[in-house]
Amino acid sequence: MEDPSASDLPTADQLLIPEGVRYNCQGCGRCCSGWSVGLTHADYSRVKDVDWGSLHPDLKDRQLFINREKEFDEGKSRYPHFTYPRADGTCPFLIEGLCFIHGTFDEATKPGTCQLFPYSYVDTPEGVYLGVTYNSMASVRNIGELLTDQREKLYGYYLKTRDHLSVRKSEEGPSGGVPDAAVVASAPDAAGPFDTVTIAAGCVVPWSEFVHLDNHLVEYISAAEQESKPFIPTLIGAEEIIFEARRMVSRKESLEGIKNFQPKVEMSANSEASGTSESTIAMVYYLYLIYPTIRARYQDLWLDKRKAFANPKLLFQLGKLISEYFAAAVNAVVFKNANIPGLAKVNINKALDYKIVKLSPEINQFFSRWLRLKIFSKTYFGPAASGYPMVTGFNSLVAYFICAMLLVKGEALKRGSKEIQLYDLYEAFWRLDKEFLTMNQLVPQVTAGMSVAYSMPKVFRSLLEVLSKNMTD
Ligand code: SF4
Repeated sequence: MEDPSASDLPTADQLLIPEGVRYNCQGCGRCCSGWSVGLTHADYSRVKDVDWGSLHPDLKDRQLFINREKEFDEGKSRYPHFTYPRADGTCPFLIEGLCFIHGTFDEATKPGTCQLFPYSYVDTPEGVYLGVTYNSMASVRNIGELLTDQREKLYGYYLKTRDHLSVRKSEEGPSGGVPDAAVVASAPDAAGPFDTVTIAAGCVVPWSEFVHLDNHLVEYISAAEQESKPFIPTLIGAEEIIFEARRMVSRKESLEGIKNFQPKVEMSANSEASGTSESTIAMVYYLYLIYPTIRARYQDLWLDKRKAFANPKLLFQLGKLISEYFAAAVNAVVFKNANIPGLAKVNINKALDYKIVKLSPEINQFFSRWLRLKIFSKTYFGPAASGYPMVTGFNSLVAYFICAMLLVKGEALKRGSKEIQLYDLYEAFWRLDKEFLTMNQLVPQVTAGMSVAYSMPKVFRSLLEVLSKNMTD
């Protein structure tokens, strides 16, 4: 397929921007750690011949990039080059909290992924839905100018995103690649993304029908956000709206009528967590919050896998890594003990049952804004999320919320406090969104396993009810 002509491009007016969402980079530098940033050939050509060591002593005699051209040509690497992070996981170009490439040259010299982070753009028949990921402290805290006031600039980034994906695609050959970790967008020449939407297995509707459901969900969550309503009933209500849509489709009714459906959510005071939901959430907690911290400690291994089998030190590390993964997984999934270095050592069952005071209006608003943004930006299902059907993607959001609650309740438990703190939530969401972003990059077996777990209707309902029951006046 050929790239659409310029006249086919969505215009700036067709950029659909979420209301009340703010973002401008605050230069905190947190986005620049924990990644090995991928560079296209074009990105690399802008920085490869610079004598970085002569420009800053921190860059002297330091390996700055990793060459993955061979793996890239064999289709085993997403990019031909990567940045080589420092031992603490920060980007080597992050100096005194700022990007040295940007400061020395300009924004356009940075790797494309860095230029476009943390925005997501999803092309649909309605227009281009904009989102921001929460793997940035400024976005998670909703700091900066309103996105609605930055239309022209954000449209410029959208065009850059298309260019970046086109460059990647041309470098990767005709087969193309999956969306980038940081730039989640449908490829410019993708065939009719979202012409149809899979609500659940066997329940597929055209976009024109789906949009009624989508609008109603966003309006329902917005109303709860404005009134600072308790979040858990809001989350369950949103799920009920999706289930009602499924029922309407099976009755062959138009989804236009979904706007009249107001879910009645009754929370049981006697709920008990089901074994299936406890084990599933423990697995998700391990994958999203524990596994990445173990992976980060063995980055030499990840950065130079090719050498691992020829290097006794790396081979030893590989053995240690595998045993740590295994021990941590068993501890979390079987014994429900989850340890995140530097953060709470959480017993998942204890955290779940720990009684806290009801969430403050500010925290309820924080959760509702997050959910509204995820639903609006369409990054939780479909092309940006491993091709998940909508119900599956929604369950992954519920799992995300529960993991965040378990983490921050664990922190409250550690402090002996009955209140969860917003700053703990910022940290939890920052970590969770990073893993959420890379969902497309998990090994296929894991993606398939998670897809099966998340496709179970109401899989986490009992956990939500227990979390709610354990909030007191
Ligand atoms: S290249 Fe610059 S913007 Fe990109 S991760 Fe490194 S320091 Fe951050």
